[in-house]
Amino acid sequence: MSVITAPPRVPGRGVVTVHGALAALALIAVAATAREATWNLPGLLVIAAFTTLSGLAYSGTSSRRIYVQGTPVGLMLAAVVYGAAPAACLGALSICVMQLRLRSARHYLRNNLITFTWFPLIGGVIFHGLAGEFGVGRTAFAFYVIVIPAFVCAITVNFLGVVGYQAWLERSSLLDALRESFLPVMPAELFASLLAMAAVWVTTQTGLLGIGLIGLMFLIFQSLVGELLKSKARATELQRLATTDGLTGLANREAFAAQVTEAIAANPPGAGLALSLIDLDRFKEINDTLGHHYGDQLLREIAQRLEDCAGPDGVVARLGGDEFVILTHDDSGDPEGALRFAEQLLDCVRQPMEVDEIVMSVGASIGIARFPADGQEMNELMRRADVAMYAAKDAQCGSRLYASGLDHHSLRRLSLLGDLTRALEARELIVHYQPIMAADDFTLRGAEALVRWQHPEHGLLPPGAFIESAEQTPMIHPLMLTVLEQAIEQCAEWRRSGRDLVVSVNLSVRNLHNPKLPDVIAGLLSAHRLPPSALKLEITESMIMADPDLIMATIAKLHAIGVCLSVDDFGTGFSSLGYLKNLPIGELKIDRSFVSQMLSDESDLIIVRSTINLGHDLGLKVVAEGVEDAPTLLKLSALGCDLIQGYYISKPMPAPVFQAWMPTPGAVPGGETPLTALPRARGNASAYEITSRR
Ligand code: C2E
Ligand code: MG
Ligand code: MG
Repeated sequence: MSVITAPPRVPGRGVVTVHGALAALALIAVAATAREATWNLPGLLVIAAFTTLSGLAYSGTSSRRIYVQGTPVGLMLAAVVYGAAPAACLGALSICVMQLRLRSARHYLRNNLITFTWFPLIGGVIFHGLAGEFGVGRTAFAFYVIVIPAFVCAITVNFLGVVGYQAWLERSSLLDALRESFLPVMPAELFASLLAMAAVWVTTQTGLLGIGLIGLMFLIFQSLVGELLKSKARATELQRLATTDGLTGLANREAFAAQVTEAIAANPPGAGLALSLIDLDRFKEINDTLGHHYGDQLLREIAQRLEDCAGPDGVVARLGGDEFVILTHDDSGDPEGALRFAEQLLDCVRQPMEVDEIVMSVGASIGIARFPADGQEMNELMRRADVAMYAAKDAQCGSRLYASGLDHHSLRRLSLLGDLTRALEARELIVHYQPIMAADDFTLRGAEALVRWQHPEHGLLPPGAFIESAEQTPMIHPLMLTVLEQAIEQCAEWRRSGRDLVVSVNLSVRNLHNPKLPDVIAGLLSAHRLPPSALKLEITESMIMADPDLIMATIAKLHAIGVCLSVDDFGTGFSSLGYLKNLPIGELKIDRSFVSQMLSDESDLIIVRSTINLGHDLGLKVVAEGVEDAPTLLKLSALGCDLIQGYYISKPMPAPVFQAWMPTPGAVPGGETPLTALPRARGNASAYEITSRR
C-alpha cells in the first residue's frame, strides 16, 4: 500500500465526485459493520501508533521496492482482532496524522484517506466473512491462515486503485503502470500478509504488550532497512557523479575511457571504431567576454547537439573545458566516411544559438583517430586524435584524420611557444600584406598586415600555429607591437613613394586590455609621420563585449586619436547589434565563411547582402574578405560592398613582393592599381602561401 506524495497534475471535478462517493460508501460500510466490532481504545491506539510511525518511515525512503512496511500489517491486525469498522477508523486517523508531516496535495490526501479506509474494511469484511462461513475460532490454525487471502484480496483491490489513480493522473498506460508498480511489490506484499498472520497470532497469545514489542522491533528493523536503502541510493548517486560531467550530463573522461576500452575488447574482427575529438574555436573568447553563464549554456547546447548527431550507438563525452569526444562504429573502414561524419558534427556545432537574446555561434576543429588503423588502445587513440585535431586547427580546415606525419607537427607546436621570446628578439616574426581593393572601381586602397613566423627549422608558420597560444600569455603584447611597428613603417614607406594606402592590423583582446595601447600607437604614428587615418585596427565582434568599461575606454581613446576601427570576422561571433550603433567603429569585415559560399548558398548570400545594408545604414564601410573568384567579386560589387579582399586579388605577400605587385605610380591616374593587373599578381603571390594551408 503506498502513500502518494508528489503532485504531477491537479484532477478535475469528476475525480472529486468519485472521491466523495467512495468516502460516503466507506462511511456507510463502517456504520454497517460497527456493531460487530470491538472498540478497544488502548489496543487501537497502540496499533495506530505503529501504523503511523511505520508509514512515515516508509515515505522517507526513496527506494520502495521489495520494502515491507508495517502499515498494512497493523491495519490488517486491527481488522482481524477488533473488526472492519475500528480498523477503518484507525486507517483514516493514521493518514490524517501522517499528513501533518507529509503535507501531500489535497487530492492525494483524499485518495490516501480512501485507500487507508477501504483496505481494512475489505480485509476485515473478507476475514470475518470467511471465519464465520467456516466457523473457525481463535484456537483453530485455519483462523490465522484466513488472514492471508483476506489480506491479499484487500491489498490487491486497494493497490489497483492507487496505481490506476496515478496512471490516470500521469496519463500513462494502466498496463505499464501495473507492470512497473504492482508486480515488483507483489512478493513484498505477500510477505506482509505472512507478517499480518504472525501479528494476529502474537496478539491472541500475548495480548497488547506483545504486539507493542513486536511493533517496536519492526520499526527498528524498518528504519535499518531504510538507512540501508538510502545509503545504496547515495552510492548510486556518487557513482553517477563520478562518471558524468556535471555541467552537460555527458560521460566524463574516466567513463569514456572505460567505454572505449570495453568497445575495443568487444570489437569483432574486421569491425572498427572511430574517435572524433572536438575542440571549439573561439569558446574562450565567449567565456571571457560574455561570462560563464553564456559559456555554460553554450557548452550544454553543444553537448545536446553532439548527442543528437552521434545517435543512440555513439558515445559522447566532455573531456573538460571546450573539448568533447565521440566514439562511433567505423565498420566500413572508409576514411571518407569518418570525415563525412566530422562534417555533420561541424554543421551541428556551427548553427547559431540564442542565449538570453544574444545570438552566438562557434566553430570547431575535429581530429579523428581510428581503431585499429591508428592505435590499439584508448590512450594511443586519444593522443592521435589530439594530434589530428591540432593539425585541423592550424590548417583551419575543420576536420582531419590522423596520419603518422602529423606527430612531429604536434611536438613542434608544444615547443613553439617556448621559442617565441627568442623569435621576437631574432626578428623572426614578419608581416605579409594582403591587398584590399575598392569594389566599385577595383583600385588598390590598402592592405591587411598578417603576421607569419619565419622559423629557422620549420619554415614559414601561419598565425594559426602560434597566435592562439600567444594570446594566453603576455607575449601577445610584444607580438602585436612588432606587427604594428612593421606595418606602420611599411605604410609610411608606401606613402613616401606616392601611394595613399591604409594598413590594417589585427588586435587580440588582451591588446585592448592594455591601457597604454592608444599612446603607443600615437607615438608610432608620429615617429613615422603617418596620419592616424592611414591605420585601421581590426577587432573581432566578440572582443568588443569584453570587459566593456576597460575596452570601451581604450576604443574611445583610439577613436579620439583618429584611428579607424574595423569589426573583423563579422557574423561569426555573437551579435548584439545594439553596440554597433553606439561604438566609434568605421568598418565591418564580413567573415570569409559567408563570402566564399555566397554564390552557392542562398542563406550566405542573404547574410552578406543584409550585412552590407546594415553597415551602410549605420554609416559604416563594408569589406568582404575571402573573395576567391571573379563572379563573387562582381556580385559583391553589384550589392554595393565597399572594399574587397581575397585570394582572387592576391594571397598575402611579403613586403617586397607586395611592392613589386603594385603597378608603378602614374601608370594609372592617382597611382592606383586596376583589376586588369590582377592575373599576374595572383601568379606571383601563390609562391608565398604557407605550406600547411595549401
Ligand atoms: P583574419 O584577420 O580574418 O585574416 C584573414 C585571413 O584570411 C588570413 O589568414 C588570410 O590569408 C585569409 N584569407 C584572405 N583571403 C582569403 C581567401 O580568399 N580565401 C581563404 N581561404 N582565405 C583567405 P591568415 O594570414 O592565416 O590569418 C589568420 C588569422 O590570424 C587572421 O584572420 C587573424 O585573426 C589572425 N592574425 C593574423 N595576423 C595577426 C596579428 O598580427 N595579430 C593578431 N592578433 N592576429 C593575427
Ligand atoms: Mg583581420
Ligand atoms: Mg577576418
